[in-house]
Amino acid sequence: MRLQLSDEDAAFQQQMRDFFTTEIPADLRERWASGGEVSADDIRESQRLLNAAGLAVPHWPVEWGGKDWTQLQRHLYLQEMQAASVPPPLAFNASMVGPVIATFGSQEQKERFLPATANLDIWWCQGFSEPNAGSDLASLRTEAVLDGDEWVVNGQKTWTTLGQHADWIFALVRTEPDAPKKQMGISFLLIDMKTPGITVRPIQLIDGGHEVNEVFFDNVRVPADQLVGERGKGWTIAKFLLGNERVGVAPVGTIKRALASAKGYAAAARSGEGTLLQEPLVAARFAELETQLAALELTVLRVAANSRGEKPDPASSILKLRGSQLQQDVFEFTIDIAGPASLEWQQPDDTDLQSWAAVATPTYLNFRKASIYGGSNEVQRSIIASGILGLKG
Ligand SMILES: Cc1cc2nc3c(=O)[nH]c(=O)nc-3n(C[C@H](O)[C@H](O)[C@H](O)COP(=O)(O)OP(=O)(O)OC[C@H]3O[C@@H](n4cnc5c(N)ncnc54)[C@H](O)[C@@H]3O)c2cc1C
Repeated sequence: MRLQLSDEDAAFQQQMRDFFTTEIPADLRERWASGGEVSADDIRESQRLLNAAGLAVPHWPVEWGGKDWTQLQRHLYLQEMQAASVPPPLAFNASMVGPVIATFGSQEQKERFLPATANLDIWWCQGFSEPNAGSDLASLRTEAVLDGDEWVVNGQKTWTTLGQHADWIFALVRTEPDAPKKQMGISFLLIDMKTPGITVRPIQLIDGGHEVNEVFFDNVRVPADQLVGERGKGWTIAKFLLGNERVGVAPVGTIKRALASAKGYAAAARSGEGTLLQEPLVAARFAELETQLAALELTVLRVAANSRGEKPDPASSILKLRGSQLQQDVFEFTIDIAGPASLEWQQPDDTDLQSWAAVATPTYLNFRKASIYGGSNEVQRSIIASGILGLKG
């Protein structure tokens, strides 16, 4: 394996770095880097700037705004974006529903939805999970019954991330209740959130923020032409989408930035005669995390090199597992460095606490989610055991 970039890839990396650090406003990037609740306006502004430069949806077909990049170029683009703290394109648009419509949608659906999805003129949310249908997604019960040229949808979705900002939801619904296998009765439906009968209810999170919601459907009427792909074949689309979702979940650049910030805090914190960073146990923990991060980055590169076309390498489950664990480890260590200050847990503007220390605990608690969404880590371990190691359960 080559560990050094070719001249061409190094030039590409520099081009990305220049764009992200000069064309995306510094104040927007600082707000994103400092954590806390996400601003919908910042996400919109960032995605529109990226889209105007042709950098919002590089993995889409070229016809719809994609770039014919190699997997390595895609990786470099993502790493540089994360390193510069640029709010990334909204995953529901760029990585989930966009590729689905581009691959399975009708020509009319592509023309209607893809440009607006790339530019975040439509904000999408993901309506897959339901109470009792998360890891066991095929058990979902939200039903859609055809009535003339409309589907009538009834049921409930849950954990709908940023649904409070969404214009549209892409949902898995049961259209063939009598199908011989539960996977065979599911369809993929696009629903305008303004349709009468939809109620969005916030779920309060442990960090105090509002990020996820419950979404209820009560006789919601959806035009029949908003079904993507074939009726009853939604499971194939769901598997395609979930594979893509997992690929983007090892945010090496973001973890690097968080770890570098933690090092800065430790170097500034007094301890005895010196700084916290000079404490042997603290220094050793940094060395350990940095080594593990380097190993993860090499694995990301190896997976990128082995992925062909749109189909993710099955090793993407390893990236999901290790990426989420390392992300959690770094945020936990940041709390250790903040020490008792992290327990104050107040907003920076009511306190003289340093802002990073005030958000250390909420950020740690918020990122407990990373090992659950995108397929829980227990399920990823099963995939690794059976799909990569060939072990039988
Ligand atoms: C912050 C957050 C945001 C989310 N956003 C969205 C969203 O926008 N849209 C959406 O549709 N969904 C979303 N989800 C839902 C997410 O995909 C599910 O929470 C996830 O799939 C787990 O399902 P569950 O919560 O029903 O847990 P369960 O499936 O009930 O799992 C409970 C526990 O049992 C374990 N388990 C389950 N099955 C197995 C198995 N076969 N082998 C071993 N262990 C197993 C799990 O790993 C877990 O530890 C989000 C979740 C979170 C936490």
